[in-house]
Amino acid sequence: KNLLLAILTECGVALEKVTLAEAKREVEIKAQRESLRANLLRAVSHDLRTPLTCITGNAALILDRGSELEEEKKIELCRGIYDDSLWLAGLVENLLSVTRIENGTMNIKMEPELVEDVFAEAVKRMSRCKSHKITVLPSDEIIMAEMDARLIVQVVINLIDNAVKYTPTGGSVHVSVAQWEMYVEIKVSDTGKGISESNQASIFKRFYREEEIHNQPGVGIGLYLTREIVTQQGGYVTVESQVGKGSAFSIFLPR
Ligand code: ADP
Repeated sequence: KNLLLAILTECGVALEKVTLAEAKREVEIKAQRESLRANLLRAVSHDLRTPLTCITGNAALILDRGSELEEEKKIELCRGIYDDSLWLAGLVENLLSVTRIENGTMNIKMEPELVEDVFAEAVKRMSRCKSHKITVLPSDEIIMAEMDARLIVQVVINLIDNAVKYTPTGGSVHVSVAQWEMYVEIKVSDTGKGISESNQASIFKRFYREEEIHNQPGVGIGLYLTREIVTQQGGYVTVESQVGKGSAFSIFLPR
């Protein structure tokens, strides 16, 4: 009887421990969600202000003094509105994706796609960029890969956007595609500031931004998303970079 009681007591203690561990895990998950929400809110409210000021300011100017303004000035103001709206749309798209990843509701629809079409779509959306020369190096072959095209377009836009953001005006950005035995590679390279070797692993972490570039808009989720989206589609991401010379980001997707 004593032995049985001892075993039962041990079982009771073990059960209690399991219940406690589960409760602790739930509290941890809640805390993580809360901190994600707080981080997103902070980042978003900071980042939304500048483009919104430009959009409302430019629109007000056109509305109030449109008849006095020269055509060229009007086009410039409209371009500002267009660019900032596009930027905001990209930010919202990224934030939605982060939330979907966290909730496990990222709905991935894999289909065979022409890789060139996918990155042409991304480049088209960046084609208004006048400060940098964006060159697309097409491939001679027809290259296909399995992917969720909508999400890969979002990834390539993020990479081109970064290449432009972290490369001084006048620099160049190259987008190319290549085919390997198992994978298809989409590569975005730039002639920008580069990333030190010690930081190359950290830049893929959620909300990570390099200290010295805080004057650039950004939330620190672009590369985190890139890696999540690509790995969820059976691929991987690489970075090669040299400080002061430039960076090259490649996404590899299964052929
Ligand atoms: P964000 O651009 O919003 O800061 P990302 O996740 O896209 O967030 O990038 C994380 C960090 O990686 C950036 O803050 C920047 O320091 C660095 N980085 C990303 N792309 C490049 C690039 N092409 N050249 C140099 N640094 C880059």
